[in-house]
Amino acid sequence: MSSTTAGQVIRCKAAVAWEAGKPLVIEEVEVAPPQAMEVRLKILFTSLCHTDVYFWEAKGQTPLFPRIFGHEAGGIVESIGEGVTDLKPGDHALPVFTGECKECRHCKSEESNMCDLLRINTDRGVMLNDGKSRFSINGQPIYHFVGTSTFSEYTVLHVGSVAKINPAAPLDKVCILSCGISTGLGATLNVAKPKKGSTVAVFGLGAVGLAAAEGARIAGASRIIGVDLNAKRFDEAKKFGVTEFVNPKDHEKPVHEVLAEMTNGGVDRSIECTGSINAMISAFECVHDGWGVAVLVGVPNKDDAFKTHPMNLLNERTIKGTFFGNYKPRSDLPSVVEKYMNKELELEKFITHEVSFSEINKAFEYMLKGEGLRCIIRMDA
Ligand code: NAD
Ligand code: ZN
Repeated sequence: MSSTTAGQVIRCKAAVAWEAGKPLVIEEVEVAPPQAMEVRLKILFTSLCHTDVYFWEAKGQTPLFPRIFGHEAGGIVESIGEGVTDLKPGDHALPVFTGECKECRHCKSEESNMCDLLRINTDRGVMLNDGKSRFSINGQPIYHFVGTSTFSEYTVLHVGSVAKINPAAPLDKVCILSCGISTGLGATLNVAKPKKGSTVAVFGLGAVGLAAAEGARIAGASRIIGVDLNAKRFDEAKKFGVTEFVNPKDHEKPVHEVLAEMTNGGVDRSIECTGSINAMISAFECVHDGWGVAVLVGVPNKDDAFKTHPMNLLNERTIKGTFFGNYKPRSDLPSVVEKYMNKELELEKFITHEVSFSEINKAFEYMLKGEGLRCIIRMDA
C-alpha cells in the first residue's frame, strides 16, 4: 500500500515559532519525504505540554529558531523511508520525544529508557540521518523540536520516535499519552513505586502532576498531598484523588517542614512536576528519612543547581529523576493505550480545552495563565 504523496514533498500548514516568546505563525511549509529509517506522519491531533512553552520562551539550553514545536500528538503514517519494517502507511501512531532504537545498551537494558541514539535532545533541530531539517519555507530550513515537531499537518520522525498503537484508540484522547500523562503516571508507578497505604506528595498540579497523582491512586496510596502555588489548581485536582492541598504561599515555614509536620516526619514518596528548582529541593527534603524516595520530573532552567545538605542523603533518603516515566516508548506505550481502552485509566478529565489549529496561540495563553490542563489542537479545523 502506498499513498499518492509518498516520495514527494508535501506542502501543508505548520505553526512556526520565528522568535522566542512571540506568537506562532501558521505558514505553508514544505515537508520533505522521509529518508532511511524515517517516517512521515499526518498529525490529526496535538496538544500543548509545558516543555514546548518552556523552550519557546527560550529558558532552555539553546534558543533555536525558526522552529516547529510540539511533541504530544496522535497521527497516521503517511509514508515510510527505506529500512522501516515495523510501520506501514495507515498505521496509527503516537510520536515520542525520547525514542527507542531497540538496539543500544540502554534499549537492551530492562532498567533504562535513555536510548543512546534517540534520547531527548532539545538542542538538536535536525534529523540524525543527514543533519538536515525536513521542513522549509522557500528554501529556508525550519528546525525540528525533540525529533517530533507536531505543530504541523505533516512531520518527519525517526522510526524509533514513533509508537504504533491500537487503531481503535481515539487519537483525540490518547494523543495526551504521547508525553505528559504517561510521564506522570510512569514517574509514580515505574520510579517512585509507592506501597499500598503510603503517603505521596505531588509538587505541581498540572497535567503531569495530576497523572502522577493518578498513579499514586492506582498504587493504593492512602494520602495524596498536592502542592501548588496556584490555588486554582486545587479544585481540578480533587477529581484526581488528591486528598490534601498545600499552597507554599499560605505558610511562613518552608514547605518541606509543613509536609513533615502533616505526616509525622515526612512523606513516603514525592514526585516533583513543576520545573522549579525550589520545588525540586523541597520535594527531596520532604521525604521521610530511612525510606523516602523523591522523583524529579520537571525540566529545570538552564543555570539551575540542586543544593541540599549531604546529611539529607546520609539519612537514607533517595532522589531519582526520569524522562517519560521510564517507559520505553515503542515497547510500552501500546500497553498504556490499552489501559485507557480497558477503562483502567481515564483521559477525558485531563482534557479541559480544545481549539482549532488556527487558534494554537490560545493553547499557549491557557498554559501561561495556568488555566486548565491539556488543550487539544485539532489539525483539521
Ligand atoms: P503545568 O505548567 O501545567 O504545571 C506545572 C504546575 O507547577 C503549575 O500548576 C504551577 O503552578 C506549579 N508550580 C510551579 N512552581 C511551583 C513551586 N515552586 N511549587 C509548587 N508548584 C509550583 O506543566 P505540565 O505540562 O504539567 O509539566 C510539568 C513539568 O514537567 C514541566 O516542567 C515540564 O517541562 C515537565 N515535563 C517533564 C517530562 C519528563 O519526561 N521529565 C515530560 C513532560 C513534562
Ligand atoms: Zn536505543
